[in-house]
Order: sequence, then C-alpha cells, then structure tokens
Amino acid sequence: MKAYETIVGLEIHVELLTKTKMFCGCKNSFGDAPNTNVCEVCLGFPGALPRINKTAIDYGIRAGLALDCSIREAFGTDRKKYFYPDLVKGYQITQDAEPLCYDGYIEVPVDDEAHKVRIERVHIEEDTGKAIHNEAGDTLMDYNRSGVPLIEIVTKPDIRSAEEARLFLTMLKSRLEYLGVSDVKMEEGSLRCDVNINVKNTETGQRTAITEVKNLNSFRAVSRAIESETQRHIALLEAEETGEKETRRWDDLSGRTLLMRAKGTSSDYRYSAEGDIPRIQLPAQMIEEIQRALPEMPHVKKARFQNEYGLNEYDAENLTGDPAFARLFEELMQHTKDADTAANWMLGDFSRQVNDKEIRYDAIPFAMKDLADLLALVENQTIHLNAAKKVLRSMFETGGKPGDIVEKEGLSQITDTGALEKIVDEVLDANPQSIEDIKGGKDRALGFLVGQCMKASKGKGNPQTMRQLLEEKIAQR
Ligand code: ZN
Ligand code: MN
Repeated sequence: MKAYETIVGLEIHVELLTKTKMFCGCKNSFGDAPNTNVCEVCLGFPGALPRINKTAIDYGIRAGLALDCSIREAFGTDRKKYFYPDLVKGYQITQDAEPLCYDGYIEVPVDDEAHKVRIERVHIEEDTGKAIHNEAGDTLMDYNRSGVPLIEIVTKPDIRSAEEARLFLTMLKSRLEYLGVSDVKMEEGSLRCDVNINVKNTETGQRTAITEVKNLNSFRAVSRAIESETQRHIALLEAEETGEKETRRWDDLSGRTLLMRAKGTSSDYRYSAEGDIPRIQLPAQMIEEIQRALPEMPHVKKARFQNEYGLNEYDAENLTGDPAFARLFEELMQHTKDADTAANWMLGDFSRQVNDKEIRYDAIPFAMKDLADLLALVENQTIHLNAAKKVLRSMFETGGKPGDIVEKEGLSQITDTGALEKIVDEVLDANPQSIEDIKGGKDRALGFLVGQCMKASKGKGNPQTMRQLLEEKIAQR
C-alpha cells in the first residue's frame, strides 16, 4: 500500500478597497462603464509618472500584521515585464526582492490540532486591465482595473488537503473582512486564488513536478481542483512518471484541470528596479500606530467568546466569521444573560431569516434589544418556542416589537388551567386507543397526544403543562 502526501501552496491576490488607484488619482470602483476610470498613468502613456498611494501601503501593512508578518520599514518597487494586452505599460509595478511583509502564518485547525500554514510574503502591486470576450467573437479591453491596488499573499507549501486549503482561505477572508481592507468578493474578482500543487510518495520520496492551477473563482473550485489534481498526480507516480512543471486552468463544468502552458521560470519576467518611484522609508511610529488601531481579529474574538460567554467552539467560530454578525451578537448579549440561547437564536432562526430575505447585517429592521425581549417572552413562558419563531418572522417583516406582535396575533400561551384541562379531556375522549397504548407501555403515544393538545390549543398551550395534565388524567382513567 503506497502512501501519498499532497503538497499545496496558495497565491492569493486581493484588491484593496482604496478610493483611488495604486499610482494615480483615478477612481478604484467595480462595475463602472468600461474605460471611464483611466488616465495617462494607468494607461501607460510614455513619460507619465506614477505616485504611490499611501492608503494602499497602510492597508498592506494592516494585512501583514493581521497575518503575524514582519513589516519591512524600507523597500523599493520593481517592474515585472511581460507582454499581454491587459498590461498596457508592458510591465507591472510590483515588489520582487523586498516584499512589504514577510514571515507570517495562520493557524488552521486540522483534526482538532492547530496546523501552522506559513506565509512567505505579502507584497503590494497593481492590477491589470481586463479582456472582455463578446458574443461577436471580439476581444475588448477595459482598463478601469488597470492600476487598482493589490496585495499578493504567498504561502509556503504547508497545506496538505483540500479541506485545509478551504479552512485557510475562510480564515484569511474573514481577517481581511475584519480589517476592512478589501470587500473580498470572489465573484467580483476582488479575491483571486491560484493553487500550486504536487504529490509526494512518502515511501520513496519521489515527487511530481509542481502544477499551478489558475482561474479558481470560488472556495469550492479550489477544493475540487486540489482533489482532482491530487488524483492526477498520484496516477503519474503510479505510472513511474513525475510530469512536467506546467500551468493549468480549472474547468468547473468538467471538474478537472486543462493544460494552459508549460510554466515559464520567474527569470522570464526580467525584474528590474522601478526607477520612477523612489525607495520608500516608512515614517517612524507608522507600523506601531497601525498595529494599535487594528480591530480584534476573528480568531481572537472567537477565543474571547468562548471565555467570556462560555460558548462552545463551534458556536464561537460561527458567530465570529463575519464582523458585523459578531457585533449583533454582542449587542444582543448586552440585554440578555443566557449566551447559549442567544447563540442558538442567532445561528438558527435569525440567520435563516437573514438568508431567506437577503438582508444585510447593518439593515436588520429591529434592535437587538427587541430580540432579547422576545427571548425573555419564551423564558418566562408567555409564549412557547414555535410562537416565538413566528414572532421573529414578523419582526423581520414589519420591524414591530415582540410584545405588540404577540398581543396582535393572540400568541400568548393559555395559562388558565381550566381551559387547558378542558382541551386535554377532549383529546383523551377522542383517542381511547392511545390511552390503552400508553397503559400498555408505549410511551410514544404520549407525544402524539401532546401534539393533539397543542393543535387543539392552536399552539397556545404550554407543551410541558399539557404533558403533565395528560399523565395525571390518564392515570385517573
Ligand atoms: Zn489613472
Ligand atoms: Mn501578482
């Protein structure tokens, strides 16, 4: 039995949410009419001089710090030269030997253990334009994206499975979202991921040549590509081959990668220093100030939620993935004490409503205090759980107060024991067989009777009280 190890490294390009581009004052904006946000600089006119965007450097440092990187205080920029229609200058301004950030890591939970995925570098660079292939078969160029600020995050080949890659990307995306440096929308191309993968036979030490997979536009595609490539590389090793270093692209429809080109080596790019931008020396204190202003990161918040609220790891994880959602939970906790119940509601019915109605977290039509009031109505048995779910739906639709909705829709539980007893008697009269079943030891019949009573009370009875009354009355019969 041969044992194989999958070896994966990721390269992730992230568009930064700056107002303007990397080296000019053009608007950085997605979805505008083609070629409207352009100027001499980002169109690469001869003699046009770039000026570096300070906010882009600030965001790059934020990202580096959030990934536990060291930050370089003095650095230059470089030209990466290649010919392609989307690269109007004939070179991309990037960083080669002196990346802004280096030597970071993310700890990914794999099989209940924290596995360190090292981050080799985070450098700043500019995006290219975009080719649009229209129905007539023409290729049109849109240069709005040309010069948009990017960071490129490069990991060491520390990832061992598709699942670990997915977890890593989820954590990375969440941290960038917390930092507010990018909108990290894969579908709009503001987060793009390439996969470098090969497979090693752990007994013989033999390895396949590294394949780079491009064109991955979802986390799912990344997972599937890693799984599919793992199989292809194993097949190579089984055939006593190692394959060749190549670039492939992911085809989502066929679920496999297709050969694009045999990969060029990096020296093909003929990197040289960017002569139009002076070397940059970061002002003293700048890194410290950015560090001090960093928001609490999701993994730190998750640990705090476990400690402070006594939540289990799963709930803490899911509550902290999105910063706006975590904020709502903390708002709720200011008005209630029962964290487990609060977490259940937020991750259950609350999230369901948000998804169904496609509401943004900053546009919830009621205050978290109202949700706390709803939880209190359940806690003090004014309404039972199913009625409360109904009330929550109505709060999402109308923004009304839970107390008002309960009253208007008559959802209060019947607390009058006389009325409840009457219902129980009627149900028992109508179901003599169930009584016999229960006396014969079939406990499941009791659940059926509780259901019948709830139905007869139009959902307004308390199921525990119903059960109690049923037991008492059956014993008397
Ligand atoms: Zn421009
Ligand atoms: Mn790049």
